[in-house]
Amino acid sequence: MTTDSKHPETLVLHGGTYRKDATTNSVAVPIYQTTSYEFDSTEHASNLFALKELGNIYTRIMNPTNAVLEERLAALDGGAAALALSSGSTANTYAIQNLAKAGDNIVSSTDLYGGTWNLFNNTFRNLGIEVRFADPSDPENFRKLTDDKTRAYFGETLPNPKLNLFPIEEVANIGRPLGIPLIVDNTAGPINIRPFDHGAAIITHSLTKWIGGHGTSIGGAIVDGANFDWTAVPERQPLLNEPDGSYHGVEWATAIPQMFGAQLAFIIRARVVVLRDQGGAISPTNSFNLIQGLETLPLRLKQHNENAIKVAEFLKDHKAVSKVIFPKFHEGENKKRTEKYYKNGFGSLVGIELSKGIEAGKAFIDALELHYHVANIGDARSLAIHPASTTHSQLTAEEQLQTGVTPGYVRLSVGLEHPEDIIADLKKGLDAAEKSG
Ligand code: PLP
Repeated sequence: MTTDSKHPETLVLHGGTYRKDATTNSVAVPIYQTTSYEFDSTEHASNLFALKELGNIYTRIMNPTNAVLEERLAALDGGAAALALSSGSTANTYAIQNLAKAGDNIVSSTDLYGGTWNLFNNTFRNLGIEVRFADPSDPENFRKLTDDKTRAYFGETLPNPKLNLFPIEEVANIGRPLGIPLIVDNTAGPINIRPFDHGAAIITHSLTKWIGGHGTSIGGAIVDGANFDWTAVPERQPLLNEPDGSYHGVEWATAIPQMFGAQLAFIIRARVVVLRDQGGAISPTNSFNLIQGLETLPLRLKQHNENAIKVAEFLKDHKAVSKVIFPKFHEGENKKRTEKYYKNGFGSLVGIELSKGIEAGKAFIDALELHYHVANIGDARSLAIHPASTTHSQLTAEEQLQTGVTPGYVRLSVGLEHPEDIIADLKKGLDAAEKSG
């Protein structure tokens, strides 16, 4: 059974085909902790390998527990199919490698999670894939950096520290007529931001954050909107349109719709070529853990969103704070983008700039008792970090400012504790910040 509902609350519990385990009637999704699956016959095995029949072959490529997670994520995002992977970093890596090879380029937003920045600016460059960085405040910057070898555009829906919403529709509209898909990392905006509604072709997630929510498991996913015509400008997407020597010469973009009646070329190739060859599979146990998180995501997000508004309003009026960075308080073009893309609150990331700079930032963090001082976001617990002395300390002061990190900047990921307790703890930090220096 699969539900017709469009409501996230229902989709996270009933999205996809899983109702109960076929052999035991188990309602909870079983952990299929197996590496392999017995073939019924040589014909069955050969049909599976030739994709003439869909079924389990080997857990590096697919697994029934992972499949439940994949189907529910696809349903939640309004996509057609998904691929669960070992981490959000793997998801971003494979999404790009599924389209770009050495000699090609992609155009990416400058506003990125630091790990993705390193992946793009160093690792991909070393592999011969050039990443050109465009300032997303003007979407036309993506067009300006495009050439014949550009295979994809990339952005993060809600990048910190600036928390400016990415112009999804504007950039998707530039790319589509050119045959260039927009890939968006929606790690910070599940449910709150719906990239497929605005023209994104592919969504990536780090499941490690809000979707898992409990801070127990690293995981990632790619979701395919099946809304992009990979054959429209075939020379633009050679990996999907030219014969693939690693899969008996198949031309994915034309063969897959003929075989499956839907344009699933991207997500199928990601699984049976990129994941098959590079092996960044998620363990079924982590998929199980992440499903536990996913099932309560809509409920948790409501509370995250409410708590963050209360925290941001409190901080805005505090004398130790010179600025609060929170989508609700954006102005000008960024306010318009918040109103266009953010439908259910403003998320639970809040940035503050402490008037007294770097020493105030350190004193603030050291005085916190309830908040965890960790390099993570999206946990059920409230988290805080002072980037200038930690995640961004290897950058020069000028580079820090370019990324939006001022000396007194502190990032908060507002958790699910009672807001009075979160604010009481922040007061301790602010008192220490005021006394510093
Ligand atoms: N994308 C974003 C926006 C992130 O914040 C992170 C991690 O912080 C990642 C990707 C990488 O995810 P993972 O840690 O699951 O590899």
